[in-house]
Amino acid sequence: MGISKKTLIIVSIIFGIILIALFFYLRFSVLENYMKIEENAAIDKVIQVQKILNKNTDNLKKISSNFSLSKQAYDFINGNNDSFAETNLPDKLLAEIGIDLFILADKNNDLKYAMVFDRAGMKKTPAPAHVTGIFADGKFLKTADGFLIERAGIMMIENTAYFIVIKPVKPADINNINPAGTLITGQMLTDEVISAISSDIRDEVSITDINSQEAKNSYASVISKLSAGAVYDISYAGSKEIGGHTFLKDLDGKPVLLLSVKSPRTVYTEGRNNVYTLFFVIFFAGIISSLTIFLVIEKIVLSRIVSLSKKTEEIGKLKDLSQNVSFSGRDEVAKLAVSINKMLRDLKINELDILKSEKRFKDLVELLPEIVIETDYNMNISFANQSFFKALGYDKVDLDLGLSLKDILMPADFKKVKDSLSTLTRAGKTHSTEYTLLKKSGSTMSVLFSSVAILTDDASPGGFRSLIVDITDKKKEEEKLRELEERWQFALEGSGDGVWDWNFQTNTVFYSKKLKEILGYGEEEFRNNLSEVMDRIHKNDYPQVIENINRHLRDETPFYTAEYRIMKKDGSYMWALDRGKIVRWDEDGKPVRMIGTLTDMTVRKKLEEEIKRLAYSDPLTNLPNRLVFNDRIELIMASSKRYSRKFAVMIVDIDKFKKINDTLGHSAGDELIYYVGKTIQKQLRRSDTIARFGGDEFLLLLPDIKNRDDAKIIVGKIMKTFKEKIAVGGKKLAVTLSIGISVFPEDGQDVSTLLKNADLALYDVKAGGRNNYKFYSGRHSEEKFIK
Ligand code: GH3
Ligand code: MG
Repeated sequence: MGISKKTLIIVSIIFGIILIALFFYLRFSVLENYMKIEENAAIDKVIQVQKILNKNTDNLKKISSNFSLSKQAYDFINGNNDSFAETNLPDKLLAEIGIDLFILADKNNDLKYAMVFDRAGMKKTPAPAHVTGIFADGKFLKTADGFLIERAGIMMIENTAYFIVIKPVKPADINNINPAGTLITGQMLTDEVISAISSDIRDEVSITDINSQEAKNSYASVISKLSAGAVYDISYAGSKEIGGHTFLKDLDGKPVLLLSVKSPRTVYTEGRNNVYTLFFVIFFAGIISSLTIFLVIEKIVLSRIVSLSKKTEEIGKLKDLSQNVSFSGRDEVAKLAVSINKMLRDLKINELDILKSEKRFKDLVELLPEIVIETDYNMNISFANQSFFKALGYDKVDLDLGLSLKDILMPADFKKVKDSLSTLTRAGKTHSTEYTLLKKSGSTMSVLFSSVAILTDDASPGGFRSLIVDITDKKKEEEKLRELEERWQFALEGSGDGVWDWNFQTNTVFYSKKLKEILGYGEEEFRNNLSEVMDRIHKNDYPQVIENINRHLRDETPFYTAEYRIMKKDGSYMWALDRGKIVRWDEDGKPVRMIGTLTDMTVRKKLEEEIKRLAYSDPLTNLPNRLVFNDRIELIMASSKRYSRKFAVMIVDIDKFKKINDTLGHSAGDELIYYVGKTIQKQLRRSDTIARFGGDEFLLLLPDIKNRDDAKIIVGKIMKTFKEKIAVGGKKLAVTLSIGISVFPEDGQDVSTLLKNADLALYDVKAGGRNNYKFYSGRHSEEKFIK
């Protein structure tokens, strides 16, 4: 809507509101006041009439006093003046003073004289029964306690209203006498009286019996209001007439007549005409002044603003910033035009700047070796720089015909790009991921695809701007490197070892699948933390491991190596050999990367132990072999020499063992040898040694014996255990032993002498029939050596 139309509507609305307010004010305030004035005037009229009526009553009272105070009336009642009526009430007098009713009653209310006077016919007639009847009971004449009192008022007698005055009859000039009776005078309230009042106050006066049909028809609402207590009431006959009303009361104070004064509504009609005239004058004056004001504003301001606005709109449409808006005068509108012209000039300068910088950026974009594209919200490419055409093999025509991101991306990547771009609604948010581009030729290239949303004026994305960097070469490098890594890993793992790769910069450790397998873990159960392995190392081995690592880090060792027990997933410990070497340092010579292997040493450790066992024990009985025996005997001999102690050497040989071999077989023989070894061992002390060098012989080393008896006790214990038959090769055999004993130091000061002498003693036992023992005595047969 135009500014002029708006102003016109606003002015009209304001004017309308003012008019409505004015109308209500005139109608309900001014006119209402006129009506109030009119009502007060009507009531004043009624009061005026009431006053006139009261004056009439006062007149009648005065006239009545002339009779009630006269001696003649007094005497008449007392029966002393029979000619009272003829003398005092001549027709001429009655007509003159206006008496229509004259009654005299004595103290007992007996009516002594009662007459009505017809003023038109100038004729007295005795009062009829309906008149005398009213006063016969004395109701109006005496008070309840019997005093005669003076009363005046209106009374209805046979549908005719009378002014009535009642007075006690008592001569004024005689003191201290009681009234003789009562005088009742009445004056008819005739139409003449009423019309006289009407002409007197110049309004129509009417008096109506409130019980008459006419009152009921015409004044029902007035009567009901006055009966309810109102002293005056107002009635209207349209806009023509206003009526003021009040009750007239009889001698008892009971309302009997309705006094109405009807006046023409001149005040109201005139007031109304004045109000209407005023309203229309204001109305037309308002219209004329509003229109004038509007036309003036329109001419001075509005039309100029409209023309300014049209001109600026036209400049906006044509986008021609070189134009100017025309203006005249020196007021604010003219200043506005000047400002617009200044702004147009500034805009023109800005536009040129923008064009320049746009050109600069366009050139830069075209020169960029990277691909730059713009896509609309539906992923259609709307702009592409030279690098795009060069890299993908498309030309400008392809772009004009319509190219979509879909055409230049692998289908899976297109879906990803679309999903990611749709989240780029917030300003400033960017998206950057590696994708594979599809060239026109069908070949591919790996790219880093970075995008940002192009925001429209309402901040919703109108499309996307993307920078695409070719990373095919970088990818190839990475691929090569990965292959290389895989190769060395494969080579290392080929040996069955696990591989670890510790990066000091990130403090992460890569553990190969094999390494995890060795420790009983699955591929996903290990994190890339150093603690994954370190925390599992046995606490006794841990310090050494740390020490070895540190020594290598300090470059004190060419390799790091450690052997330790490490807890497997099942909670058991295994032996592992850990070896590693720093393979990369930074410019400051600080280690960056260390690679190593973890070898499962379980099998090797077992083999080692087995070899150890085999080297130091007899394979059949697991008893110490010659090596161990020689070692121990040397030690015992040294300490025995130092502390001057004795020790015994015994050679125990199974009797007739060959026979068992021959009859029951070699393995039964083995079984027996094993059994004899174990049985003897059980009888020995912890410090004693039993060894086997082979054959059916056992060598016993018993340190710390005080004398030969100590040795005898042990021999006795051994012999005793062989008293029972022994189960060998399914047979029960009686096995006996022969034992030769030598004692240090008396039987020899060196190992070979001691052994030789024990053997000599044994030989003697055999020669003596076996199943016995003998100490070396120095007198043994030398038969054995001869043989
Ligand atoms: P003697 O009462 O005189 O000792 O009679 P012998 O039959 O026991 O004779 P001798 O002690 O000289 O015999 C030892 C035999 O034990 C010789 C050999 O055949 C046998 N022998 C040696 N080493 C083993 C062995 O490891 N296992 C078995 N089963 N027999 C062995
Ligand atoms: Mg033997």
